[in-house]
Amino acid sequence: MTLEVIGVQQNLVAISAHASTATATHCPYCAFQCGMRLTVADDAVTIVGDPDFPVNKGALCIKGWTAAETLAHPDRLHTPLVRNTRGNLTPATWDDALDRIADGIRATQARHGVDAVGVFGGGSLTNEKTYLLGKFARVALGTRNIDYNGRFCMSSAAAAGLRAFGIDRGLPFPIEDIAHADVILLVGSNPSETMPPLMQYFQAQRANGGTLIVVDPRRTVTAQTATMHLRLTPGSDAALANGLLHVVLRDGFIDRGFLAERTVGFDEIAGIAATYWPERTEKITGVPELQLAQAARLLGRAARPMVLTARGGEQQSQGVANTLAYINLALALGKRGRPFTSFGTITGQGNGQGGREHGQKCDQLPGYRRIDDPAARAHVAAVWGIDAADIPGAGSSAFELLDTMGEKDGLRALILIGSNPVVSAPNAVHIEERFRALDLLVVSEFFLSETARLAHVVVPSAQWAEEEGTMTNLEGRVILRRRAVDAPDGVRTDLEIIAAVADRLGKGDHFRYSGASAVFDELCRATAGGPADYSGMSWARIEASGGIFWPCPSADHEGTPRIFAERFATPDGRARFHPVRHQSPAEEPDADYPLYLTTGRVLAQYQSGTQTRRIPRLAGMASEPFAEINPAAARRAGIADGTLLALVTRRGRAIARARLTRDIREDTVFVPFHWGGLSSVNRLTNPALDPTSRMPEFKVCAVRLESHPAS
Ligand code: SF4
Repeated sequence: MTLEVIGVQQNLVAISAHASTATATHCPYCAFQCGMRLTVADDAVTIVGDPDFPVNKGALCIKGWTAAETLAHPDRLHTPLVRNTRGNLTPATWDDALDRIADGIRATQARHGVDAVGVFGGGSLTNEKTYLLGKFARVALGTRNIDYNGRFCMSSAAAAGLRAFGIDRGLPFPIEDIAHADVILLVGSNPSETMPPLMQYFQAQRANGGTLIVVDPRRTVTAQTATMHLRLTPGSDAALANGLLHVVLRDGFIDRGFLAERTVGFDEIAGIAATYWPERTEKITGVPELQLAQAARLLGRAARPMVLTARGGEQQSQGVANTLAYINLALALGKRGRPFTSFGTITGQGNGQGGREHGQKCDQLPGYRRIDDPAARAHVAAVWGIDAADIPGAGSSAFELLDTMGEKDGLRALILIGSNPVVSAPNAVHIEERFRALDLLVVSEFFLSETARLAHVVVPSAQWAEEEGTMTNLEGRVILRRRAVDAPDGVRTDLEIIAAVADRLGKGDHFRYSGASAVFDELCRATAGGPADYSGMSWARIEASGGIFWPCPSADHEGTPRIFAERFATPDGRARFHPVRHQSPAEEPDADYPLYLTTGRVLAQYQSGTQTRRIPRLAGMASEPFAEINPAAARRAGIADGTLLALVTRRGRAIARARLTRDIREDTVFVPFHWGGLSSVNRLTNPALDPTSRMPEFKVCAVRLESHPAS
């Protein structure tokens, strides 16, 4: 069903816009941020892959080809909506909507305090929006409560990277390095479906004689292309990584000179790894001893091994520990003379990297600065023209923030941009109830998403091709999205909306910019000297170069494609090993709920599906969720292939169509999460949080299958 490498294609969609020449811009969806060229002629938008952009090299997936179909879509919002006294959303003028927002914020602050008003952002927002949203929360609202949906995506990898390397950049090397690794361990990632143009690098690696080992409970399309597939039990990643390390150590593949020069803490790790002998590891992970030893030897003998993780191991209540265990393995495989240790994590959302750098996290200021660092506060306050003491402290993380909505000392008002938590948050039925308990919910959206339907005020916002801004892709390369078409009448950009609300709150002086590039210039100043330093960048430089890797601390600095080539970003320049032991997931199968449930994505849909479910070609490819079940498990539950079934967990029920396949473990069910209502698998998922990253456990919980009456 899936193409591994997709060539240059084109898509036509009718739209009212000015005729123009081709505009080089980027896809609205995932972190690969494929370069594309949009041409508007004869009221139609043409999309082709950009062969000059060095990341996708002209390839697009079906989501990219069809992206323009959201622009003139009949569901598009063109006017603000305000909930009337009868409880209905009705069209309103911009002035009425903005007044309602500002009045609601002031009333909430007066009754419940400034922290009762919160902000929720998204990992698909441009760097400029991310930055301005963080500034809006701290300067215009004075609230400590801002977080974003990237907490559900990248926070475990980010926390692990910070601990081990002193800095969090998903891939610390350019994507092209994948083609030159001789053995790759790819953990919990299925790029054949989620990011198909990335597969050209894995194909090049194979063509160069390389080996790919995939770790996944499912035999995914990506796993089918691999040399080896380690089909682990959900929730057993740390044990698997420790077991691989055990064999690497036992068989003498360690370069102690490298470890002494560039790392700290190996001896303690070695002691732990010694206890994960293959028989024990097989018992925990389900990966046969022989396979484990074979994979470890392949990695140990490799001249250029690479370990890549993604959401499979990270979206767990042990997500940080799991990622650290894989980092331990990658560091232990390092050898003298290597430019870097070849560990990376594959970011998911469009601006999943930049979205976590510039201040929309509850504990963070722009440039990946900590909000509790006095020097960081002083620097950012000077850029913002305020007193450092006026910057609030750290607030609550995403799920915890949403969990308090409508509660006595929790959030009473929320401004939400670029996110649809009613579909994407764990334990979604509960989260929907909490949204309904708010006094004021403001949603900026281009379609009436499941979350927007609950809002008191909905403001219609511009889409990616209608506005400009920078994104930071999965490699840490900052790129520029150019405006290709005019926004429809009645629609405003998120930057304009944020500035207009700030103005009504009496803080407009802090939010007057000549355009999005001026916001970026201020962002660059705010990041100067921080871990993610953009201060040498400008839109002109980015456009001229096709993208700049951060850090880029001065106008004559070329950027940093390989960030750990000389040293790690720790005080002594050495990477840190961290002791990790296997711990069970928060919920495991039992007599009542006998199977593991794990969730993920499919090729034709993106995230909560707000955009992609509305595109007929994508909906035709994936119109409803399926439950991938091993035939043996289906037989035990009395489920036939193709029938509707109910999935039941301790949190709720959801409906999906059974898809029987031996490509999944007998003890595991997989369901994609792109749909709402009864089709939302997040009605079932467990909000158990990682103690460090506060990442919910999307990838593991216990489930029961039941026949559905409609089947
Ligand atoms: S969804 Fe991702 S892989 Fe597909 S075209 Fe867009 S950026 Fe490229």
